Amino acid sequence: AAKAEGRNRWRYFTPAMQKAAEIRSRTVADLRSALALGQFYLQYQPIVELESGKVHKAEALIRWQHPVHGIISPAEFIPIAEESHLIIDIGNWVFQQASRQVACWQTAYGSDFQISINQSPVQFHGESSAHWASDLNRMGLEGNSIVVEITEGLLLDASETVSRQLLAYRDAGIQVAIDDFGTGYSSLSYLKKFDIDYLKIDQSFVRNLTPDSSDRVLCEAIITMAHRLGMKVIAEGVETQQQGDILKLADCDYAQGYLFSRPLSADAFAGFMLE
Ligand code: C2E
Ligand code: MG
Ligand code: MG
Ligand code: MG
Repeated sequence: AAKAEGRNRWRYFTPAMQKAAEIRSRTVADLRSALALGQFYLQYQPIVELESGKVHKAEALIRWQHPVHGIISPAEFIPIAEESHLIIDIGNWVFQQASRQVACWQTAYGSDFQISINQSPVQFHGESSAHWASDLNRMGLEGNSIVVEITEGLLLDASETVSRQLLAYRDAGIQVAIDDFGTGYSSLSYLKKFDIDYLKIDQSFVRNLTPDSSDRVLCEAIITMAHRLGMKVIAEGVETQQQGDILKLADCDYAQGYLFSRPLSADAFAGFMLE
């Protein structure tokens, strides 16, 4: 983008800024070909039901196996994919991949198995996911095989397009989770406006969770509020037994994090389920 603003601008770039800009433009080009070359893959992180210890959910997390730079994390390339709108094609690929995987795991682990996928606000533009419900139908899958994770920002000032897409999800049975809950905006009014199925408590509330912490108070308040509004709660980034115990005691429904498992390849996930 900087380049488009004129060659002279480069003069004001520090070498580090110039390097970053170069990497960025190279990354867009690389991203463009990555789908065609099959360089993306999904990992799956088990989501544990705290009461029973059972796993009938997983979150799909994208990875990029770059031929030169190795494995690139989504935190690095998703923002670039969003800016360039490549996220729409990538998002549809994630959906297809996750749908195939959930069909397989429903056969193996039961028809209530769900996979959640992350959806960027940009993916709501032009209703790029409008065909998801019919795709699931064609595969013989129930809508609630898939949970779509979105962030609060999308709902704060939801456009007509966003509202329509969320209603379409509800009609199709596709479930909706609010990711990174509590980190976005302080407005809660969207919770009564939209039909949300899950709140995912952000890792920043879980990281320092101890019996006497204010984070404990916040987690308990979030869980109580969610339940009274008819939502289930998933805690993110649970790394220690103590965090898991506090959340279970607070009646949190589900948890995911390194305490249970890191994100796994599909094969490794199957191995985890055998343990
Ligand atoms: P997220 O959806 O909030 O995903 C949770 C992140 O926390 C993942 O990072 C996961 O690997 C990491 N995590 C899980 N358990 C723990 C734990 O116990 N401790 C710590 N410290 N971290 C844990 P990851 O895979 O690097 O993904 C980062 C973000 O990238 C995701 O955050 C999500 O916003 C985005 N993302 C990932 N896959 C996709 C995708 O397919 N599409 C879109 N649009 N965004 C994606
Ligand atoms: Mg997520
Ligand atoms: Mg999150
Ligand atoms: Mg619902």
